[in-house]
Amino acid sequence: MADLSTPLGKVVGQPSASPLAKHRDIHTVGDLLDFVPRRYFEPGKLTDLSSLVEGEDVTIVARVDRVTTRPMRQRKGRMLNATITDGKRELDLTFFSAYGHEGRLVPGARGLFAGTVGRYHQTWQLTHPDYQIFDLEEEQEAVEQYTGNLIPIYLPAGKQMPSWKVRNVAQIVLTSLREIPDHVPPDVRTRRGLVDIASMYRLLHQPSTEKDVSRARYRRKYDEAFTVQTVLAQRRMAGEGVRTKPRLPIARGLLEAFDARIPFELTAGQQEVSAEIARDLACEHPMHRLLQGEVGSGKTVVALRAMLSVVDSGGQAALLAPTEVLASQHFRSITSMLGDLAEGGLLGGSEIGTRVTLLTGSQPTGIRRKSLLDAASGDSGIVIGTHALIQEHVQFFDLGLVVVDEQHRFGVEQRDALRGKGKQPPHVLVMTATPIPRTVAMTVFGDMETSTLTELPTGRSPIATHVVSNPRWFQRTWERVAEEVRAGHQTYVVCPRIGDLEVAGASGAAAVDSSDEDVDVEFVVDESEPAPTRELRGELHSVLQMEVELRDNPALAGLRIAILHGRMAADDKDEVMRGFAAGTIDVLVATTVIEVGVDVANATVMVIMDADRFGISQLHQLRGRVGRGTSPGLCLLVTETESEMVQQRLLSVAATNDGFTLARLDLEQRREGDVLGARQSGGKSQLRLLRLLRDEDLILAAREDAFAIVGADPGLEQHPALRHVIASALDDEQAAYLERG
Ligand code: ADP
Ligand code: MG
Repeated sequence: MADLSTPLGKVVGQPSASPLAKHRDIHTVGDLLDFVPRRYFEPGKLTDLSSLVEGEDVTIVARVDRVTTRPMRQRKGRMLNATITDGKRELDLTFFSAYGHEGRLVPGARGLFAGTVGRYHQTWQLTHPDYQIFDLEEEQEAVEQYTGNLIPIYLPAGKQMPSWKVRNVAQIVLTSLREIPDHVPPDVRTRRGLVDIASMYRLLHQPSTEKDVSRARYRRKYDEAFTVQTVLAQRRMAGEGVRTKPRLPIARGLLEAFDARIPFELTAGQQEVSAEIARDLACEHPMHRLLQGEVGSGKTVVALRAMLSVVDSGGQAALLAPTEVLASQHFRSITSMLGDLAEGGLLGGSEIGTRVTLLTGSQPTGIRRKSLLDAASGDSGIVIGTHALIQEHVQFFDLGLVVVDEQHRFGVEQRDALRGKGKQPPHVLVMTATPIPRTVAMTVFGDMETSTLTELPTGRSPIATHVVSNPRWFQRTWERVAEEVRAGHQTYVVCPRIGDLEVAGASGAAAVDSSDEDVDVEFVVDESEPAPTRELRGELHSVLQMEVELRDNPALAGLRIAILHGRMAADDKDEVMRGFAAGTIDVLVATTVIEVGVDVANATVMVIMDADRFGISQLHQLRGRVGRGTSPGLCLLVTETESEMVQQRLLSVAATNDGFTLARLDLEQRREGDVLGARQSGGKSQLRLLRLLRDEDLILAAREDAFAIVGADPGLEQHPALRHVIASALDDEQAAYLERG
């Protein structure tokens, strides 16, 4: 008898086990049971042949229509040609020796055929197909097994092992299986209407009806959600076990002084979230909170107030930005908001004030050393820098709070690394402007509490977005930009590449702005289109080329044009940003470096070149840069795409300013792997079956169950099977992480 960890060879023999190990990485009984059929056929129903694709490996049910044999010219023996059909379309099978086929491939015979789809002149072919005939005497056993049942179709494991041989292996495994411990407790199974795990495997590998298949699939999906949620529940419990220093506000401190001087009222939402954070900071275990809110919803002010209260309590706060441009900008806006409160210890500074320190990789060594010293001595209450820098180099005197700006570039591993930073683990507040649908928040960020700012401060102007896809309107776009500049406003022009003037048009991918401090362009690969050859041919707009074109454009004559991208020296970038903020630059041609957080209220127009190259959420994020002042913002999405699907995507961005709607749309159009991929979740995605939108109810149910179980039994002492599943899931994750280095 076998259990899930038994080597497959012991059960089915090495000749069957080897190809599965080699081609499909299947080594144990459990691996094989998890190698589930891709689809199921009804034996009586022929497969529709209209959707064949050349080069594809297929397994189909068909009927033999006619068979011919003829002697070969060069050699002995006869060739056999058979034509199979679905009743409408036909497919040719060719065998170079009729031997062994003649008796089996007879007109009227039905069976499974597997091979690679080819084309010879106008006819479709299966080259060297494998097949199994249903109604053959000697294969009667196989036929009986199918009677009344669905035929599971597996991915083949190499040439020797077509679908039905995999199926035979699965059947043997099922009959030799000892009882499998079920990691989902019986009461949960009853409540959720889930089949037990042994039945699940049986229904997957030998179902009678469609209903069987869907019950089994549902259980598998549930398992996936349940495992993830159990891990998250344990992580959450573990977090609650960690102790840290509560940070209590004090009377007549920095926070009070700051509140007295901000020139606006906090919105109700800001007040509410601030109170939540204050409560968290006053606790003995570290805060771990995600603060989401649209661009401009006032997250930074909320975060700054939290930082000030930590400084009041004698601790330090760190603010981490994804790029140097953003770190510098935070530094400028925070020092200016604080005024003399940021001049603690300086002559003329406020008595209760603190010091704000900027730390970037490109600072001259002397300045950087001073900054590091200020952080380590505690002289600096607020340290602002990029993620990488602060994680690696900085020592703090007493780090009480870490604020991370822009969550979506900051994964679980980085979050964990930071928590190891202070003497006591710091409180962590993560801010994101990318709206995160509920189920994503519960899966990817399920170990965090969330707060959301839903209203924008008053006085914010609406952004109108238009798609410009007709070349006749391209020049009009630049005239519009000029009008806006004459009215005293400024414009961004965003391009997908930096470009390279000398080899303009030939440099291709190398010129994409992926320099490490820049956010990378998320190229959207539209599966309905061929590979992005336009990019490789250098036809995508680049910053360098665009600058030249705009300078030559008569409509823009006399305008002050500058560029910004990740290959520029930090000082130059800084100077450009400062110039744009001061209004001495009219048109800023940039890569997506400006995507997050850049805040120039006087910029009212954004032109996005090759807008089809950007994802929905990214476009929304980008246009959030305009309309930050009192004048209405305008965003023009310029595209030359001919794909209707892509145009539709751009139109949907133009149609709404609601980030949540767009985030859902974005999610629907992507695969979960991209949403939860290494870059974002910081680990191998565990989600393979779940659809984060469609399976929302199931995820909620699994979360409720997992949190109840872990709440009552954190160490899973009463649930050994579950404990085992979790341990191996985490092992896999760890292994994947180590592999990546
Ligand atoms: P976010 O970080 O969410 O993008 P910020 O905190 O940077 O938003 O706020 C955007 C702008 O709105 C800033 O100039 C800020 O000073 C201003 N602001 C923030 N809160 C309010 C408020 N309650 N009323 C008016 N203006 C506000
Ligand atoms: Mg911000």
